Amino acid sequence: MGLVDKVNRAIVGCQRCPRLIAHCQHIAQVKKRAYLSETYWGKPIPGFGDPKARLWIVGLAPAAHGANRTGRVFTGDSSGNWLYKVLYETGFANQPGSTSINDGLRLKDAYISCTARCAPPGNKPTREEISNCSSFLEQDFEALRHVEAVLALGSIAFEAVQKLLAVKPKLKFTHNAKFHVENLSLFTSYHPSQQNTNTGKLTWKMWEEVFWRIREELENKPLSKSNFVASHRRQTLNEPKTPRSS
Ligand code: SF4
Repeated sequence: MGLVDKVNRAIVGCQRCPRLIAHCQHIAQVKKRAYLSETYWGKPIPGFGDPKARLWIVGLAPAAHGANRTGRVFTGDSSGNWLYKVLYETGFANQPGSTSINDGLRLKDAYISCTARCAPPGNKPTREEISNCSSFLEQDFEALRHVEAVLALGSIAFEAVQKLLAVKPKLKFTHNAKFHVENLSLFTSYHPSQQNTNTGKLTWKMWEEVFWRIREELENKPLSKSNFVASHRRQTLNEPKTPRSS
């Protein structure tokens, strides 16, 4: 078993935050009307993606009826629709949609973790819960040995990443910023939550600009987006669609 799988196994078995564990289980029992026939995951959510990723994306926490239902990060909710669509457009995913853990989605050169791995009430983990979960971010970072770029989604994830990387003095969060921290490039974006996407705080243009910037940095050259998309689609069409576990 690889290091990433070991971390994920530890995450799924974690019980460190009683409030969050109880909340995840409660949501899994009461469910949402639209998903009454489904069996919810109802546990901490492991990371997902390519263990050899150069891009590491750090989100906030699983959604109650998204990842807490489906068992895969950013899967089955509107934030996931935004994230995987842009990852597909910029060549990090084999398909734009993420509906269930068995939908065939695979990431290439990208890995996704969360600041807190359990769905919190009101989408707000406490400081103590974030601190409890920080060891899993450290373990992911340790396991992902090829990371060159880190993308923090939202100010809480940005703060957690800064703590992990021992950034001093503290950096201020703004959308689509880029910082150099030792040999890493640290990028920021507003989180693609409905609160941000429905209000226009985060538009699709603002969102995709972040990922194209990262893609260009990783390729170390300016890209013609239309050529890149065409070549990426040719590649993914030729790849076998076997599901991949994280
Ligand atoms: S939030 Fe993290 S530390 Fe707390 S119970 Fe979930 S997995 Fe464990």
